[in-house]
Amino acid sequence: MPRPRIDLHTHSTASDGTDGPAELVAVAAAAGVDVLAITDHDTTAGWAAAAAALPTGMRLVRGAEFSCVSPTGRGDRDVAVHLLGYQFDPAHPAIAAEQARLRGERVERLHRMTEKMAADGYPVDSDAVFAQLPPGASAGRPHLAQALVAAGVVGSVTEAFATLLYNGSPYYVPKCDTPVREAIAMVRAAGGVAVFAHPFARKRGRIVEPSVIAELAAAGLTGVEVDHPDHAPEDRELLRALATETGLVVTGSSDYHGTNKTTPIAAETTAAESLERLLEEATGVELLGV
Ligand SMILES: [Zn+2]
Ligand SMILES: [Zn+2]
Repeated sequence: MPRPRIDLHTHSTASDGTDGPAELVAVAAAAGVDVLAITDHDTTAGWAAAAAALPTGMRLVRGAEFSCVSPTGRGDRDVAVHLLGYQFDPAHPAIAAEQARLRGERVERLHRMTEKMAADGYPVDSDAVFAQLPPGASAGRPHLAQALVAAGVVGSVTEAFATLLYNGSPYYVPKCDTPVREAIAMVRAAGGVAVFAHPFARKRGRIVEPSVIAELAAAGLTGVEVDHPDHAPEDRELLRALATETGLVVTGSSDYHGTNKTTPIAAETTAAESLERLLEEATGVELLGV
């Protein structure tokens, strides 16, 4: 039997991907993916549509990519990190309360950024920005960027980020994300498993020390994403060794975003043994497609 193709990290239009959840499933099926995880940023809004579109023979792991903050292990200021949660019960009070808090924060933040820009004479308004949001989507800077493109202020979303919406811009308002330890505890409490997403994606900014990942392994983290498009070969080796030392499950994923990024679906994959180890610990929801 051929080895299954397993991609455990993909985005739909429920966050910043360009394929709707059903389309995402179709793209995965066409690419020969046997097991797909849908992992939108801070939302499970795509789960139902993805599940409804699941073809025979394909399995769907339901997940989310949580925006978190973590100490770096160097004593400097905290750094933004991403945590993948799989097969958790989205209705669990621990999850629901934190998701509601974050959604509120995101909405508030987008309002404040839009108002700052409007006050400086930019032709944007909050109502119009929010009117274009797909239902259940987590509000974010890409939506403000799209409004700026539509208003003709900039030529592209990339230009909007480079000139007006970058971290530290006068219009930037920081987010209040979940401490990663709390996020792990929340996912575990809701019957899910937690995997540290792309911990050594250096081009995105500062990263955590390996000691932080080891501490999180002792605090309930189950896996670490090793094979990720943003990881250099030497960093993958480091992480693989760390996973062996700490007992963390090694995963690999494309972090597919449709046409918002160039990586094709299943460009990186997870071994069947790793998936099995993750699913053994996950009891929050049923695995779909079995
Ligand atoms: Zn991420
Ligand atoms: Zn991602």
